[in-house]
Amino acid sequence: MNKEDPADRTWRRATRLVRGGTRRSPFDETSEALFMTSGYVYATAEEAERAFTGEHQRFVYSRFANPTIEMFQTRMALLEGAGLCRATASGMAAVFAALMCQLEAGDRVVSSRALFGSCHFIVTELLPRYGIESLLVDGTDMDQWRAALDRPTACVFLETPSNPGLDVIDLRAVADLAHGVGARVVVDNVFATPLLQQPLDLGADIVVYSTTKHIDGQGRSLGGAILTNDAAFVEDPLTPFLRNTGPALSPFNAWLLLKGLETLEVRMARHCANARAVAEFLDGRPGVGRVLYPGLPSHPQHALASAQMSDGGSVVAFDLDGGKDAAFRLLNALRLIDISNNLGDAKSLITHPATTTHQRLDAAERRRMGVGDGLVRFSAGLEDVADLIEDLDRALTAAV
Ligand SMILES: *Cc1c(COP(=O)(O)O)cnc(C)c1O
Repeated sequence: MNKEDPADRTWRRATRLVRGGTRRSPFDETSEALFMTSGYVYATAEEAERAFTGEHQRFVYSRFANPTIEMFQTRMALLEGAGLCRATASGMAAVFAALMCQLEAGDRVVSSRALFGSCHFIVTELLPRYGIESLLVDGTDMDQWRAALDRPTACVFLETPSNPGLDVIDLRAVADLAHGVGARVVVDNVFATPLLQQPLDLGADIVVYSTTKHIDGQGRSLGGAILTNDAAFVEDPLTPFLRNTGPALSPFNAWLLLKGLETLEVRMARHCANARAVAEFLDGRPGVGRVLYPGLPSHPQHALASAQMSDGGSVVAFDLDGGKDAAFRLLNALRLIDISNNLGDAKSLITHPATTTHQRLDAAERRRMGVGDGLVRFSAGLEDVADLIEDLDRALTAAV
């Protein structure tokens, strides 16, 4: 049940972000109410019976549904332009549930190689344990997608822009190939956010988020979301999978995420402007090799990024010619920008993926993914960009 007011869908995006899905309690509060409750009570035994037969649709248990979580799901669905949303406890719970609820032994999954570390683990290590074949392709190479999608396939999974290398994948082209062999397309849209890219409009069937990133955006909570227009998929297999395996979002985190959505559009504009200014500052700087930012004309898929994204996002990746030593010297010399593997936070964060988020992969696989020893990932926060550039400038002078 994603309950919404009929007005919600006629509102423009900024209005939906602030008000979409709000359901006031009898106390007429301004801010969304936080229903910190696991269970619900029934006036009579008969009412409980009717609730369990489904004859009376109401809240029965917060693993299934909760009013605060429902407000968040409705606001997310309105933002994405999706029919339905299911919230989860983390981004990885969303990825895992979106894939695992629909797969069975003997199925085949094709995925882009450039994936967040835990997504890579699910696709390459976990799925094969259950008899599900998985194949990785270079997501930017349409010939590899064509070769891989030449036989019946259950699912295609990809991330664009990818973490941390910012590969941009042609969503429309991959979705067309996938649908030709009967595959559902699942897109991890964390880097673009629902504001910069709408995968469902480009042919994706399911979109997943780590709401831990820009949607909370203030480093306070974990959360995830699964969105789709496929009501039959949500009814079965997704909802029974979620209800019975229990990756439920906390109502408290749903409340934080509702507050995060209220400011998402305002924050993303600053995130993108800061990231672009940092990318331009780094581009051509001595000691800095490739600067990867979808909004820079030098990005290998810049034309595609401009066509399918409305801005470049908050993350910039760059190579230091001096490899790991130079990367570590840079990170250690920063005074303002924090060393952290998180991203999409109000605070600017920097990490060395080869030794953190992608440490578990062997060196050859890291190289195939473009995660070299000199690669650094920068997540632009909301600070004054002049302070960020001064910090990077000073640290680069010391490091390279
Ligand atoms: C962070 C992240 C995830 C995992 O999200 P959690 O909320 O940390 O579980 C998945 N995909 C991408 C692209 C991410 O950046």
